[in-house]
Amino acid sequence: MTSQSIQAGTAPSSDQIRRAPKVLLHDHLDGGLRPGTVVDLARDGGYSRLPETEADKLGVWFREAADSGSLERYLETFSHTVGVMQTREALVRVARECAEDLAEDGVVYAEVRYAPEQHLDEGLSLEEVVEAVNEGFREGERTARLNGHRIRVGALLTAMRHAARSLEIAELANRHRDQGVVGFDIAGAEAGFPPTRHLDAFEYLKRENNHFTIHAGEAFGLPSIWQALQWCGADRLGHGVRIIDDIEVAADGSVKLGRLASYVRDKRIPLELCPSSNLQTGAAASYAEHPIGLLRRLHFRATVNTDNRLMSGTSMSREFEHLVDAFGYTLDDMQWFSVNAMKSAFIPFDERLAMINDVIKPGYAELKSEWLFQQTASTSGSMTAED
Ligand SMILES: [Zn+2]
Repeated sequence: MTSQSIQAGTAPSSDQIRRAPKVLLHDHLDGGLRPGTVVDLARDGGYSRLPETEADKLGVWFREAADSGSLERYLETFSHTVGVMQTREALVRVARECAEDLAEDGVVYAEVRYAPEQHLDEGLSLEEVVEAVNEGFREGERTARLNGHRIRVGALLTAMRHAARSLEIAELANRHRDQGVVGFDIAGAEAGFPPTRHLDAFEYLKRENNHFTIHAGEAFGLPSIWQALQWCGADRLGHGVRIIDDIEVAADGSVKLGRLASYVRDKRIPLELCPSSNLQTGAAASYAEHPIGLLRRLHFRATVNTDNRLMSGTSMSREFEHLVDAFGYTLDDMQWFSVNAMKSAFIPFDERLAMINDVIKPGYAELKSEWLFQQTASTSGSMTAED
């Protein structure tokens, strides 16, 4: 084995993981606020229902509530974040900080989703919500650039599965298509609210040649994934982790894919996998047992995502640190996931290609070459005239 291949197989350091260019496709705006911002916005907006008013304690409360295994407590976390995101100023700030935090964490491209219909309590219109969030993302991109980071953020507009506004939200996404909104999504409880309830929205978007992802195959299994793909025509699967139920691994390690799993792999359907979130909702028992290990090995179009950074106390770098620990992933694996995600983004093909060739690959090449210079630094002092 050459020293280069030894280096290539080395686990990346935390610092390298953070600096590596990462791509995020599944992140909720109302799940990623800074705890201090929740406190500020609650105070400024007269929101009095927070369980804690000190930023650190509130951060812990969010993680514990999400970890509790109680759906009620988990949903309560979002009632607070959404509760303080009801004014234009609040939405601009949350979106700006979201872009700044992702950029600081080494994310170069992100699609961040939110449900406009949840931000109308204090009189904003759907249009005003979208304009405020877009303004925040643009501001965040600018401040990130001033701090030496480059990030591009697109918005996905989410409709809630239990509500009946999906067509209206799909039309909203289409109207703002070339102004910061890159696609559509539906979210909320899977059980009892199949995506087929929203067929009119999906059919509308298909007629408009627009893109959408669907939360499917998280808590609920294969039927949900099948409906999202074969009835609704989703471009990507939000989670999709239960596709594992259609994959048989025999004692000798041989693997057999069912028809649906084969379809997902053959058609390169992107899976927006969110390891930490899945551990909290019980979809996986540990990082080492998370299906992402097998799905990566089988070359599914797997991507790594954060879902709700506040509730899971996570970031893209944290997600990769867990995966490096659990599966021994290297910078090559990280690059594979990042290129997969970029290929699956909803922006135009030429822009995706430029991100891959001009940002992501050079970024990893730079990190992978660092060992060469470390070696020079550590040996140059011992050189003699004869060398
Ligand atoms: Zn989600």
